[in-house]
Amino acid sequence: MDNVRLGKTNLEVNKIGFGALPIQRRNMDDSIEILRKAYESGVDFYDTARFYTDSEEKLGKAFEDVRSEIYLASKTAAETPEDFWRDLETTLKELKTDYLDLYQHHNISFCPKKDDDLAKAMIQAKDDGMIKHIGITTHKITFAHEAVESGLYETLQYPFSYLSGAEELQLVEKCKSLDIGFIAMKAMGGGLLKNSKAGFAFMNQFSNVLPIWGIQHMYELEEFLSYPTDLKLDDELSRIIENDKKELGENFCRGCAYCMPCPEEINISICARMSLWIRRFPTEPCLNEDFQEKMAATKNCTECYSCVDKCPYELDIPQLLKENYEDYMNVLEGRTKI
Ligand code: SF4
Ligand code: SF4
Repeated sequence: MDNVRLGKTNLEVNKIGFGALPIQRRNMDDSIEILRKAYESGVDFYDTARFYTDSEEKLGKAFEDVRSEIYLASKTAAETPEDFWRDLETTLKELKTDYLDLYQHHNISFCPKKDDDLAKAMIQAKDDGMIKHIGITTHKITFAHEAVESGLYETLQYPFSYLSGAEELQLVEKCKSLDIGFIAMKAMGGGLLKNSKAGFAFMNQFSNVLPIWGIQHMYELEEFLSYPTDLKLDDELSRIIENDKKELGENFCRGCAYCMPCPEEINISICARMSLWIRRFPTEPCLNEDFQEKMAATKNCTECYSCVDKCPYELDIPQLLKENYEDYMNVLEGRTKI
């Protein structure tokens, strides 16, 4: 099976979805090279957002001549009809197209229902042919259930990886029974999972799930393209998954940055997961002056807890920062060997 059917949208897309958030960090030429390689290799679903700085512009430049051969999904964080129309207009211009295959509410603070003004704007955009299908993204499980039960959405985008537990698996099943396409974001745990082969084989178990792999480098794309499309979990891959689950637990920072900005300018999405980062990736670069400064800034935390209200995983961020700082200093000063 090379394709995934995205629920009631009836879109049949290549099972390697392209998450276009990380290409913000590449220059225009490199981004276009990666995107064209993906297209030429059969990847046909690209997910971006108004919020991802120049990601839409890069997709627009890369695909202007092949627009009808691919599916473009974008998102808006607008919470008023005025902002919604402004975002949609900008997105279409940046993507150099006159329609989106999928338009999604992007992690907004409430779930629009059919009678809400924001939902009416979305429905109007569909009636006018500016968008083909309506979706929503969230990181919160109760919100996700509210959205899929509303009857308005054709797709749900939600964090899903081999670290996911029973609640997420139930959500995937529920989407399947309601014929709602399930788009898996953070399929590599927000950058903390290293084994893309295990991730790919895990996703293959779900016929209704489309993972959008966040791709920043050509080698990452080539890794996904190298796997047989029917790759299955074997003993070795299952062992890797079990080890990662043990090491990461449930209360770890995914680096999504929804809790930021911090009034004290603490870089929470880096500092709250530094202990994991220095163990799972080369340690030395994490001990340079720049990271030392970032970690030192965590001592300025006033415990105002405004970040905690915004964290979809309800993490105790001030506590996590303290633990990560202590561990970091122990590694830096040689008291902890890793
Ligand atoms: S609790 Fe600390 S880290 Fe969080 S927003 Fe307040 S000062 Fe920043
Ligand atoms: S603390 Fe929560 S909101 Fe902030 S980056 Fe980590 S997971 Fe995301």
